Amino acid sequence: MKIYLNGQLVSKDEAKISVFDHGLLYGDGIFEGIRIYNRKVFLLEEHIERLYESAHAIRLPIPLSPAEMTKAVEETVAANELVDGYIRLVITRGSGSLGLDIRRTSDPQVIIIADKISLYPEELYEQGLKIITASTIRNHPQALSPRIKSLNYLNNILAKIEGSDAGCLEAVMLNHKGEVAECTGDNIFIVKNGVLKTPSTDAGILDGITRRAVLRLAREAKLEIMETTMTRHELYVADECFLTGSAAEVIAVVELDGRLIGDGKPGPVTKDLKSRFEKLTRE
Ligand code: PMP
Repeated sequence: MKIYLNGQLVSKDEAKISVFDHGLLYGDGIFEGIRIYNRKVFLLEEHIERLYESAHAIRLPIPLSPAEMTKAVEETVAANELVDGYIRLVITRGSGSLGLDIRRTSDPQVIIIADKISLYPEELYEQGLKIITASTIRNHPQALSPRIKSLNYLNNILAKIEGSDAGCLEAVMLNHKGEVAECTGDNIFIVKNGVLKTPSTDAGILDGITRRAVLRLAREAKLEIMETTMTRHELYVADECFLTGSAAEVIAVVELDGRLIGDGKPGPVTKDLKSRFEKLTRE
C-alpha cells in the first residue's frame, strides 16, 4: 500500500507523523471519506469543496490548492491500483507546542490513504439495520459545528459506543433541541405517505455528499422532498427509513428503539433510491 504524505507516496511503515501533531493531541484537523467506483473517485469535486470549507472554518491553511489536492488524490488511487475502494483524506494542524496556540504550529500534514472497503455485512443491505437512539446528543452547532468535518469525532464515538453496547451498528443522534440530527457516521431519511423527509442542514448535521446525491436522485424520481425539522416520533411512525453515507451508501433501517419501522422490511422508495444510487455509482 502506498500512502500519500506531504507530497510523497510512501509505504505504510514510512507514513509517520509527530506525536506533537495537534491532530493527535487535540483532534485539531479535518478529513474527508470518499469512494472509488470503477477507478473513478466519486463526487471528488464536492468532497474537495467541503474539505476547504472545513479548513476555512477552523482557520487551517491547506498547503495545496484544490487542484493540486485533486491531483494528489487521483495519483494515490492510481498508485494503489484500486478499482473500488475508499479514500481517507486527512489534514492535521501539524506539530506545535503542547499548548493550544495554533500560531505555534507550522506544518499542516496532508495524508491520503486509499484502501479497500467493507462496512456493513452484505445481508444487512437486503434486510436493513436495527438501530437505537443514543442518549448522547450531537454537538451543539455553536460549540463545534457538525458542518465541519473535523478530526474531533468523540461526540460521534460516544454515541457509537451506546449503539455497539445495544448490539447495533448505528445510532440516531438528536440535536440540542431534541430534534433528529443524523447518525454517528450517516445521514438519515424517512418516507411518510410518499414524501421523502430528512433533517435540514440547519439541524446541526454534516452536509453529507451522499445525502446530496440521494436528494438529486429523489428529484429525478419526482418524489416530494422535505428538508425539515424531524422528531423521533416521526421516525417511529415512518413508513420507511434509510441512512446515507460515503461508506454506508444507502441502507435501510427497519427497527428503531425496539419499534418496527413500517412492516420491518426495506420499503419500495428506499429500494428504488438504493438501486438508482447503485446505477449512478456503478454504471
Ligand atoms: N454524518 C456524519 C457524522 C458522518 O461522519 C458522515 C460520513 N462522512 C455522514 C454524515 C455522511 O456524509 P457523506 O455522505 O459525505 O459521507
